[in-house]
Amino acid sequence: MTGPSSEPVPGQVRPGAALRERLGEVRGWIFDMDGTLVLGDRVNHGLAPLPGAAEMLTWMRGRGVPYVVFTNGTNRTPAHFARVLRAAGLDVPDEQMMTPASSAARSCWRGGGSSG
Ligand SMILES: [Mg+2]
Repeated sequence: MTGPSSEPVPGQVRPGAALRERLGEVRGWIFDMDGTLVLGDRVNHGLAPLPGAAEMLTWMRGRGVPYVVFTNGTNRTPAHFARVLRAAGLDVPDEQMMTPASSAARSCWRGGGSSG
């Protein structure tokens, strides 16, 4: 996420060559929601995006970098959490939001899990 020049951005972490190579092999990203993209209270009211989170997701979408957002919240649907994140200014479509329940459902749908 550098600008048009290669000027260092204050606070930006510049990975070394080995890490850049490994990151180049990544096919997609899973972000934790709370504490990574946003900060909120215990019931996710008043979520505030963390600095750079919105810009990062916009940058990723613009380049076709796959990502999903995960929360361990089980009291709401993925669509609800995605709506809350969009209201906070983050580009998170419903289908890119995951919860433990939606992950379990996808796993079962795909035939995952142990058959005993
Ligand atoms: Mg967290």
